[in-house]
Amino acid sequence: MSDHQPTPSVCPLCAVGCRLVPGENQRARGSAGPANPNGRLCRKGVGAYRVGDGDADRLTEPLVRQDDTLQAVSWDGAYERIVDGVEGIKTTHGPNALAFLGAPHCTNEENYLLQKLARSLGTNNVDNRARLCHVSSARALSDQVGWPATTTSLADLEASDIILVAGANPAERQPIAFNSFVRPAVLNGARLVHVDPVGNRTTRLADYHVAPRPGTDALVFDLLSAAVVERGDGVDRAFITDRTRGYDSFAASIAGLDRERTVARAGVDATTIGEVVDRIAEADRVAALVGTGIEGDGDEPNAAAALLNLLLLTGNLGRRGTGLYVLRGLVNEQGATDAGCVPDRLPGHQSVTDPKARESIAAAWGVEPPSEPGQTASELLAAFGDDIRGAVIVGENPAVSKREPEWIRRRLDSLDLLVVCDIVPNETTRYADIVLPVAAGVEKTGTFTNLDRRIQRSRPTRAPPGTARSDFDVLRELGSRLVAGRELFDYTCVGDVFDELARVAPTHTGLSYDEIGPEGCQWPADTDGVLYSESFETPDGLASFVTAQHAVEPTATTVDSNNVGRLQLVAGGRASEFEIDRAHSGRQLRMYPVDAHDRGIEPADDIVVSNGQVSVETSVEITDRLREGTVYLPATVADPLLRSGGSTVTVRPASESTDDI
Ligand code: SF4
Repeated sequence: MSDHQPTPSVCPLCAVGCRLVPGENQRARGSAGPANPNGRLCRKGVGAYRVGDGDADRLTEPLVRQDDTLQAVSWDGAYERIVDGVEGIKTTHGPNALAFLGAPHCTNEENYLLQKLARSLGTNNVDNRARLCHVSSARALSDQVGWPATTTSLADLEASDIILVAGANPAERQPIAFNSFVRPAVLNGARLVHVDPVGNRTTRLADYHVAPRPGTDALVFDLLSAAVVERGDGVDRAFITDRTRGYDSFAASIAGLDRERTVARAGVDATTIGEVVDRIAEADRVAALVGTGIEGDGDEPNAAAALLNLLLLTGNLGRRGTGLYVLRGLVNEQGATDAGCVPDRLPGHQSVTDPKARESIAAAWGVEPPSEPGQTASELLAAFGDDIRGAVIVGENPAVSKREPEWIRRRLDSLDLLVVCDIVPNETTRYADIVLPVAAGVEKTGTFTNLDRRIQRSRPTRAPPGTARSDFDVLRELGSRLVAGRELFDYTCVGDVFDELARVAPTHTGLSYDEIGPEGCQWPADTDGVLYSESFETPDGLASFVTAQHAVEPTATTVDSNNVGRLQLVAGGRASEFEIDRAHSGRQLRMYPVDAHDRGIEPADDIVVSNGQVSVETSVEITDRLREGTVYLPATVADPLLRSGGSTVTVRPASESTDDI
């Protein structure tokens, strides 16, 4: 097994998967790869080697809590304490009193080992936050076509006639993918449609900007489908007949959609919608790229499902230049779930309730995984100190989230055992009983799977400091010490684990660590990057339409008096914790000119944003890059407002004394 090939690292800072090598002065240099064919890096990627390098805070030795303080111990001492704690909890409370949280920063092999450790101990309580990032898109893809993953390749966008970007800003968030694949396609004649309440850098390249009211994305996609059906010539009858089911129910569910009222409800421009419908109906190949902006709050209709309906209706799946792309954010969001680091899915997205899948895993492991789905990360967190007595957290910092900080602190503090693996102390390590120092992204050997299912090998370009070691080494050792039958975790190298993943995960069948070359490889092995060209990954091989889920509410006639003067708050993306250039991450509220004028707000004014319970102070940018009636805040600024449950807000100049308008 060769872990020492001179392959570049994979940029650990986002899911595009650019390749890089060390340059001068701690800067990274791009190395041409499948995700960055021009060998370019974005500004963030150039700083990839600075993460954790020479950081005075860097953890260098294991720490164990003694007399209420964390004190340095040997690795053996730390492992022994963990083994005692885990075994004690398992004996007293059972395996389901344990929780394991993996991370989209960790490699495929590390996430695989974590879920194997949890399941070998007898619990499916294993999760990672990647599962939460695109939950409705993943659900729609799983339910309607098969796998929760991008259906074709970034490079295939060159064949697209229409690229529809919804709820995302790839020009800023996935810049190298945008500039390497979307921009060239558009310059070559593809039309770009941007569906987002807020105009941003992606909008600048767009031919059409559709700005729906927040929460009405699904309605807009249903409206597009209804108009395509009404127009007739864009409907792919042969595709619908041969490759789908449920069309009649879907068609009936959108047949009554009143176009005028729907346009008013969504607040979109009817002329723009008409032109987008014409372009989609005329196009041979339509691809859709979705971000977290269409995720909704859980109660809203699933916008990704409505978008998939539109793609199925027009025969836009299973060919180059078509399909649905999930614009994932963190480096291994896709791989962490592929590896089975989720409570209801085994490696390769097999259900834990499927006896055949469990049998096949048992044949490889010698231990059968439990059949009851485990709890999700947010359920586990809520049960900390009650049903959950011990947690192993790898590369995550749950003390910082949208939840109320004091509530989280109480939960973390009430565990009998909290083990945290990280590169630096953080808000969660404050509550840990054992803290293990681990390697940063560019210090690891292993594979990462990017946003178009491409698996790339990454090599370490420096050693971790002190006695820190990779999460891979930590989990392999914990598995050997905790699970009866040490041979279950008796791996000589990362490649052994990848090859085991390829044996047990149907998605990865036929892949081999040693055969992953400089271009990486996409799963599944035999598709040339395009999923579903012959058949969908469903029991009968057909894709499913789902029925439209909503009725159009009256608009002009009904006004909620509680909402008079209030504005709809849209929260932006959450900056990565590895964000290098924190000084440039803006805090400003963006506001439409008429809304600002009505409230006597001038450009750059200090303002107060309030939902009636909580207020935040910031400054304002007045811009027409978002729709009237909507304001935009970066997630980190919006969090206190969102936590307290208010997504409509008032905005006033800070100089005014009134608390609410
Ligand atoms: Fe790294 Fe993403 Fe930038 Fe590429 S686009 S250099 S993967 S942060």
